[in-house]
Amino acid sequence: MKYKSTRGGVAGLGFTDALLMGLASDGGLLVPESIPDVTSELEDLRHCSFVELAQHIVGMFVDDIDTPTLNRLITQAYSTFDHPEVVGWHELDKVTVVELFHGPTLAFKDVALQLLGQLFQYVLALRNQRLNILGATSGDTGSAAIAGVRGQDNVDIFILYPKGRVSPLQELQMTTVSDSNVHCIEVDGTFDDCQRIMKDTFSDLDYKEKYQLGAVNSVNWARVLAQIVYYGYASLKTPTAAQFSVPTGNFGNVFAAYLAQRMGFPINKLIVATNENDILARFFATGEYASGEVHQTVSPAMDIQVASNFERFLFYYFGEDSQRLRGFMSDFAATGRAGLGAAPETSLFAAVAIDQTQTLAVMRDINARFDYVLDPHTAVGVAAAQQLCVADEPVLCIATAHPAKFPDAVNQATDTMPTHPSLDALSGLPQRKRSLRADLSTVKRHLAKSVLA
Ligand SMILES: *Cc1c(COP(=O)(O)O)cnc(C)c1O
Repeated sequence: MKYKSTRGGVAGLGFTDALLMGLASDGGLLVPESIPDVTSELEDLRHCSFVELAQHIVGMFVDDIDTPTLNRLITQAYSTFDHPEVVGWHELDKVTVVELFHGPTLAFKDVALQLLGQLFQYVLALRNQRLNILGATSGDTGSAAIAGVRGQDNVDIFILYPKGRVSPLQELQMTTVSDSNVHCIEVDGTFDDCQRIMKDTFSDLDYKEKYQLGAVNSVNWARVLAQIVYYGYASLKTPTAAQFSVPTGNFGNVFAAYLAQRMGFPINKLIVATNENDILARFFATGEYASGEVHQTVSPAMDIQVASNFERFLFYYFGEDSQRLRGFMSDFAATGRAGLGAAPETSLFAAVAIDQTQTLAVMRDINARFDYVLDPHTAVGVAAAQQLCVADEPVLCIATAHPAKFPDAVNQATDTMPTHPSLDALSGLPQRKRSLRADLSTVKRHLAKSVLA
């Protein structure tokens, strides 16, 4: 499989080059040149374990790592999960929760970032190359990315996070990692400051090349690829075509579901569930894509107004017309809004915004009726599923985090205090972090010094 950019300026790239490129060099996002079709194999694939299915699907998109090696990397990536089938499955009347939080940092991002870590390690050693990963996090991405590459010889990872604005548990998950290739940087500013510093550092192309910077945020194609697997897997476990409800921020997760559907997995509805940051819900209702103020909610991983993966969806919606896409994106960049003129024509997608009161009410109700605790992100998905699913057909709701990662919201909704042994084990461990001002040149100087050290 070869890869090309949504903006039309890059084509013919192999998988490992796409993995290391991250954002396409023309400013677009990388997508496969074609979408493989699995319809004729569905009966066989139904009998696969999660890891076997991952080997099959990922293998269709990778043609520059030999199959035995790729299969070994995939097996290793998922050996760190504490569920025998990697993905958990919990039925609550008509909604079934698909638990993706059984990895090392208890969020679904582990499914992709554990594999990304294995791929980086193999590819960099083969090419005798180093990579300095720079990322910004508002919480879950940082710890999952660190867990994916900690201890590796050819990678250093630098994570910027806003001082005092990630939860104490999320901070401990990053700063207590003792491996010397892990560098946590608390920035005296907001998440937007961290993200801006990261983007400005990447856009200094000479600096990026000199210090061999790489990215792990969800614009990286390999993250989307790893996420296709659980949609295929879950869709084959249900007797009829599946409806999925997906708690959505950057649109990476639900975009992977879209590709699974395009590959022929039996999926007939994708519910895009947002919190009060409802740019995507408004887009699906009106065709207008317009960013608003960021609202702080009890589901902070979804407090996003500009969804970085949405460009990939638009590319396909526009029939792979890069020129039309460039026009839309440049209107949006210039004015903060762009539109289709009317609501998008789709029978596959539905979208709804769920507010904080509804989120907490669903957590309370599910706990009371089923003795099952939802984290506040998953609760947004369950509430959306209850509102939008087609009656009598099963709905699969993607559970994106373990409730113990968000104890305050869970406690507020249910009066219980969720725990997890891996989080309990963090208290009292020594922490390592650097504190820096929210200033581009300060951060760049610090990176340069640490990289050469
Ligand atoms: C990252 C994250 C999301 C949002 O996923 P996207 O791929 O950005 O749409 C939802 N819930 C949790 C817990 C997350 O960490």
